[in-house]
Amino acid sequence: MNLQDTLTTHFRLGSEQQKALKRLGLVTIENLLFHLPVRYENISDVQSVGSLVKGQEAVVYGQLTGLKTRKAWKSKVPIGEAYVEDGSAKIKVMWFNQPYIAKMYQNGVYVKLAGKVAGSENKLYLSNPEVELLNNLPIDRHDSIFKGSEAEEDTLYPIYRETKGITSKWFYHAVIKCFEKGILDEIVDPLPTEVIKPYNLPEIKTALVWIHTPKKITHAESARKRFAFQEVFYIQVQKARERAEANAANTYKIKIDKKHLEEFTNRFPFALTEAQTKAIEAISDNFVGKHAMSRLLEGDVGSGKTAVAATTAYAVATSRPPEGLDKKIEYGNLQVAYMAPTEILAKQHFLSFIEYFKHLPIQIGLLTSSGCQKFPSKSDPNKPTPISKTQLLKWVKNGEIPILIGTHALIYKSVEFKHLAYVIIDEQHRFGTNQRKLLAKKDNNLPHLLSMTATPIPRTLALTIYGDLDITLLDQMPSGRKPVITEVVGPGQSAKMYEHVKAELKSGRQAYVICPRIEEPDPDKANTIAMKNVATEAERLGKEEFAGYKISTLHSKMSPAEKDKIMKDFSEHKTDILVATSVVEVGVNVPNATNIIIEGAERFGLSQLHQLRGRVIRGTHQAYCFAVTDSKSDKTKQRLKALTTAKNGFELSEYDLQFRGSGELYGQKQSGLSDLGMEAIKNLKLVEAARNEAQRLISNDATLESHPLIARQLERLEKSLHME
Ligand code: ADP
Ligand code: MG
Repeated sequence: MNLQDTLTTHFRLGSEQQKALKRLGLVTIENLLFHLPVRYENISDVQSVGSLVKGQEAVVYGQLTGLKTRKAWKSKVPIGEAYVEDGSAKIKVMWFNQPYIAKMYQNGVYVKLAGKVAGSENKLYLSNPEVELLNNLPIDRHDSIFKGSEAEEDTLYPIYRETKGITSKWFYHAVIKCFEKGILDEIVDPLPTEVIKPYNLPEIKTALVWIHTPKKITHAESARKRFAFQEVFYIQVQKARERAEANAANTYKIKIDKKHLEEFTNRFPFALTEAQTKAIEAISDNFVGKHAMSRLLEGDVGSGKTAVAATTAYAVATSRPPEGLDKKIEYGNLQVAYMAPTEILAKQHFLSFIEYFKHLPIQIGLLTSSGCQKFPSKSDPNKPTPISKTQLLKWVKNGEIPILIGTHALIYKSVEFKHLAYVIIDEQHRFGTNQRKLLAKKDNNLPHLLSMTATPIPRTLALTIYGDLDITLLDQMPSGRKPVITEVVGPGQSAKMYEHVKAELKSGRQAYVICPRIEEPDPDKANTIAMKNVATEAERLGKEEFAGYKISTLHSKMSPAEKDKIMKDFSEHKTDILVATSVVEVGVNVPNATNIIIEGAERFGLSQLHQLRGRVIRGTHQAYCFAVTDSKSDKTKQRLKALTTAKNGFELSEYDLQFRGSGELYGQKQSGLSDLGMEAIKNLKLVEAARNEAQRLISNDATLESHPLIARQLERLEKSLHME
């Protein structure tokens, strides 16, 4: 047996199983071995149905049959009834006064039941047990691994990510078969001993045995920690390599004259916050340093990132290019590229920059796929003017336009700068060294990079996703800003909310309504949770609470052009209410929209709710956020309450990390981390360790020449990130 053998060579697989494995992306033996369990079940406290005795609190696993409802003969109490059967015996199950339980399940499903054994000696039944639906029955307790296991050992069986057609039980036995055939001899640990030793992490063979067939929960935990570390470590190595590459490149030195910058910021209609001043200083230090800057500016919506971008862009756009070899001063100034994720945002940045630069003889260009503009216009020095793309590109290429703002279109081949010294990126999580080089084209100098984000993520995740960047936090809001008044609206409390929002609409404000779903779910699908959806809710609001107001809808299934149109109409107040899914998150600024109702708030992370709330933070009017939930759970209410007490998005993202399953954490998508890797994110020490080890490795072996296994792993990582 070899690692690269296909599974079909060694396992007899039915067509359902083959399809299932394909869906999970499992082709080779190696794939199988690294399809790691997601959790474990401890079945030492499970009884077999045949061994139950009266009066006992029992947990059994089995198959449900004979589901029906009836009324008790005398008392007429409604009863739900079934049988549960586990191979050892069959026993009756009764749910008194809860007949609906019998209607919730279908004959033949696998369940875990926990309840009291009642009845008489030879007519035992399980009384009102709690039901947990299972995908399959747990591995038989008498299976090889558990046979003869010591009494004090945990009886654990692994649960894998499953799909229809394949079970955890299959995975478990398949892996054991591979172990028995000596597959572990084929495996070489990609992590050098000196990397894992100091942290007491098991080497890979031990880790594989422990993670798939643990005899103790501590073994399983230790193995999981190793694989989690490994995942973060790979990412960190990749980031360390990118950073080393950036540091090796030449860059532009930018002249920083403090007085000169102050003249620029003194014109702002506000005083900079301390955090903004510090950010500008950090960037200025990089500008005069040896290496190209690689920096992330992280700050809540409204914390004033654009002002930082504009001030530092000003420093660049007023700097002269270096002297050529022939000492001839080159024509033009150093250039800035500012890239935004959407066309609307690019236009907004363009307009903000015009405000910041309108007193200066500095030209600003706007490049998007639907058109180009330049500021100032020849005929009116206070206004921008549309120009042809060809003309704009010509002026960018010859250096006449020092600041170019745009969408992804900036990366196109046709866009060439004369001296691109500074790249500013707004909300582009994956923008790395490669794209920076692409923008710079043939220029021998690598531009300075400032990446900006309002996505609140915990520190450990930031260290991982942005491992190649220095991080600056804008953790302070401009003074005098009214915080959004936030209210958690429980079941039956929405009347007051609608009354309030209606009054706001009446006085000329606008509102967002966020729903978790786009459309009505398929009614045939069992167990679908009732969730508000955009289509139905928009219709309902138009007939009921918000009758007479103009309502539009926005969601991710729309084309970019449709979305732009809807947003434009909303920002021009052609519509009053925008009912949307969470796509509205990305920094669109409609100052007149001062109310946001978030339906099904319990389904969102706190960071995401905070991000959504950020949509109404901009205006001069007091803003309101209503987090609506149908949940009666105190835990949910308590979690949502944090929205009203936390100081900023970072604090909320740390709450998310602690309170929610790590799998749902905001920012995971951008990180490329698996659920297991996300477990590591809960552990600052582990992340820092992985980061330090990665940096050490790269500083000794920048090209990974002596670590080919790691190099190969990074190639895979890169590929999987680009596949999305
Ligand atoms: P974001 O960080 O979300 O990109 P912006 O840069 O768009 O924030 O700033 C939001 C608003 O706050 C803008 O209208 C801007 O003019 C204003 N602003 C920025 N800095 C300050 C400050 N220090 N004091 C008061 N208002 C500020
Ligand atoms: Mg912004």
